Amino acid sequence: MDIRQVEEFMKCVAESETKTFPFKGKLKVGLDLGTAYIVLVVLDEENNPVACEKQAASVLRDGVVVDYSGALDIVRRLKEKLEKRIGQELVNCAIAMPAGTESSTKTHCYLAEGAGFEVSAILDEPSSANAVYKIQDGVIVDIGGGTTGLAILKDGKVVQVEDEPTGGTHLSLVLAGNYHVTFEEAEAIKQDYSRHKEILPVLKAVVEKIATIINRYVKGKDIDTIYLCGGTCCLTGIEKIIEKETGIRTVKPENPFLVTPAGIAMNC
Ligand code: ATP
Repeated sequence: MDIRQVEEFMKCVAESETKTFPFKGKLKVGLDLGTAYIVLVVLDEENNPVACEKQAASVLRDGVVVDYSGALDIVRRLKEKLEKRIGQELVNCAIAMPAGTESSTKTHCYLAEGAGFEVSAILDEPSSANAVYKIQDGVIVDIGGGTTGLAILKDGKVVQVEDEPTGGTHLSLVLAGNYHVTFEEAEAIKQDYSRHKEILPVLKAVVEKIATIINRYVKGKDIDTIYLCGGTCCLTGIEKIIEKETGIRTVKPENPFLVTPAGIAMNC
C-alpha cells in the first residue's frame, strides 16, 4: 500500500470505533495488549474494518502482564461490547508480542483464551504493522506507550526486530514535571490535539532521544524511509523531528494509533 492507501484504510479503522451494525460472515480479530492501551480490531474476510474497541490500561509493563485479572476483565469487556455491536460471537483472534518478550507468549495466549477467544496466530508486534504498510524495504517504527519497536525489512522480509524501553509514557512524565500536574492530567494534555503546538518544544528532547534509538539501528543500512505507527506518533510534528534527526524521509498516516492492531487482525 502506498501511504495514501494506508491513510484511507486507517481512517476506516478509526471510524469503525463508532459504527454499530449487525454483521453476518466470517470475522478476523486482532488483540493488541499494550502498555498503555488494550485494543481489539475486527475486520471482515477481505480486511475491511468492521468494528474496534479500546481501553486505556496499566496492566502490562514492557510487554509483560503485571495484572492478569485486570487484563482479563478488560479483554472480556471489550469482546462483549464488540459482540453486542456486531451481533455475533467473536471466536478466533490473533495476538502479537513485542520483540524480546517471547517468553511471555503463553500468558498472552491464556489471557485471550480466558476471555473466550481461540488464538489462531501469534505474531511479533512491529512486523504485524507491515500487514498494513506492505513495504518491501525500509523500517517500521512503532512508538507505543512503554516502548519503541522497530522492524527492518529487506525484499519484503523482516530481517531484524528490536524493542527499546522509551515511548509515550516518558513524554507524559516530562509533561507532568513541566506543568506540575499528575501523570493522568499530563496524558490528557498530550492527547489534546489543540495543545500539540504548545507542548512539542517541551517534548522535543525525548523525541530526539527516540530518534537516536532509531538511528542506532538504521545507521549504515540502506534505508530510505521510516514508516511510523503507534499511539505516540499521533503527536503532531513528531515525524519532522525524527526526519531531521535521522536524515531519513519519515512518513505516518493521520491515524497511526491503530496500525499495529489492524495488522494483527489481518493475520487472524
Ligand atoms: P506498547 O506498544 O509500548 O506496549 P501500547 O501498545 O499501549 O504500548 P499504543 O496504544 O500504540 O501503545 O500507544 C499508546 C500511547 O499513545 C500512549 O502513551 C498515549 O498517551 C499515546 N497517545 C494516544 N493518543 C495520542 C495523541 N492524540 N497524541 C499523542 N499521544 C497519544
